[in-house]
Amino acid sequence: MNWKPKKQDLLGLLPEKLVMTRTRDAALRYLSFDDGPEPGHTPKLLDTLARHEVKASFFLVGEKIEQYPEIVQRIVADGHMIGNHSYSHWSFDNMNLTKQLDEVYRTDALLRLFDDRPHHRMRPPHGYVGAQLLAHFARRKRSLVYWSYDSLDYQDRPVEALIDRLRNDPPAPGDIVLMHDDSDKAADALDVLLPEWLSQGMRFAALPGSSR
Ligand SMILES: [Zn+2]
Repeated sequence: MNWKPKKQDLLGLLPEKLVMTRTRDAALRYLSFDDGPEPGHTPKLLDTLARHEVKASFFLVGEKIEQYPEIVQRIVADGHMIGNHSYSHWSFDNMNLTKQLDEVYRTDALLRLFDDRPHHRMRPPHGYVGAQLLAHFARRKRSLVYWSYDSLDYQDRPVEALIDRLRNDPPAPGDIVLMHDDSDKAADALDVLLPEWLSQGMRFAALPGSSR
């Protein structure tokens, strides 16, 4: 697994249901986009997904939700899932549990304004989660969402390199694909790749929303 930093061996302690890295619905792939909403990028990405009739999941940053609520409204109206990517996007690595929970619940409260769900699936910033927060989530049966396929779209390489890489090694059934919507790279690559992938019979869906 290329996503797993050393400290994250803890994640293995939780049942698969609570730490999602792939899904059991083998017919589908799941595109996910972190770090938005961004007025310069997210609308273009939404246009791309709409053009190809593909649904996806957006793990949003609380302070950006406050700044750009109209973009979040559109994400939900377009049929995508919204998830929690913390309030400030600072790593949880050097934060005490109280502060971590503040980051989580503040963002839950913001997301709730858009889709009425009390809690949202959580992807911690930089993928880091400590033992105390894991235990807190486990007690409440709240799920964390990681990824099984890292697109590496954040690397400083031209979009053509990203397209080549994804084309040569496409997501497999059940994969949760990590991408970002704080640049146009994902939208530019997907505009080329989605028609190819869809014509090959691949299907893409939003992750199911959290029931708690
Ligand atoms: Zn992030």
